[in-house]
Amino acid sequence: MSSPKFALLTLAGLAAALYAQQGYKDTPILPGQPWHVHDPDRPHPHAVTPGAEPGAPPSDAMVLFDGKDLSKWEQHDHGKTVDAKWKVETGYFEVAAGTGDLISRDRFGDCQLHVEWSEPTTVSGSSQNRGNSGVYLQSLYEMQVLDSYNQPTYADGQAAAIYGQWPPLVNPIRPPGQWNTYDIVFEAPKFEGQKLVKPAFVTFFFNGIVVHNRKELNGSTEHRALGTYKPHGDEPLLLQDHGHPVRYRNIWIRAVKGYDQPEK
Ligand code: MG
Repeated sequence: MSSPKFALLTLAGLAAALYAQQGYKDTPILPGQPWHVHDPDRPHPHAVTPGAEPGAPPSDAMVLFDGKDLSKWEQHDHGKTVDAKWKVETGYFEVAAGTGDLISRDRFGDCQLHVEWSEPTTVSGSSQNRGNSGVYLQSLYEMQVLDSYNQPTYADGQAAAIYGQWPPLVNPIRPPGQWNTYDIVFEAPKFEGQKLVKPAFVTFFFNGIVVHNRKELNGSTEHRALGTYKPHGDEPLLLQDHGHPVRYRNIWIRAVKGYDQPEK
């Protein structure tokens, strides 16, 4: 037997239960945010399909090298922009020593970057003269690539160092000939006119191991000098030709909008 009053109560209970599943408006406002705890009106993140296997590009990544060609890259030759000359082999490409740096055709700001690289199996040279290359975020901030496998150099110049500023927390490099992975979260510096209003920050996983946790950069990465910040906007990614036949494969990047305010 159900009375009209009982039916009303049941309906109200159902509505309350349904609403509770989607959030609450009678909860406190989160400090520094416009939202209630469990706010039902808070926008949801959009869906991204992850890569089919670990390290593969997710659905919203820009693939900069898929194993086939260097169409996303260019080089500079005596001030002129030319097609990339680095050598593409099966599934990877290699620094063509002496041809100059490889520069992405697109420009990037805040981003997440995945890069894989391997060192020459013919081991030669020492310190900075062994398997040296580099991943330059915005063409200015070098994440060092070097054969640091049982190979000493100054700490802030070994593989995965933010060159000249921060050594990696640990050294998880693989031996020459094996593939290493860099996964980098980059917060680009922000400028208002000539003024720096936010420095660059780097969070960095090397072969899946954290080596930098939101490290602040003191400016561009320099040899035997302090970095400086000069105002710039989005800039290309750059891979360094340091004269050594380092190999790269599986490079992808995700432009990330609004690390600080994901809902905007
Ligand atoms: Mg280098």
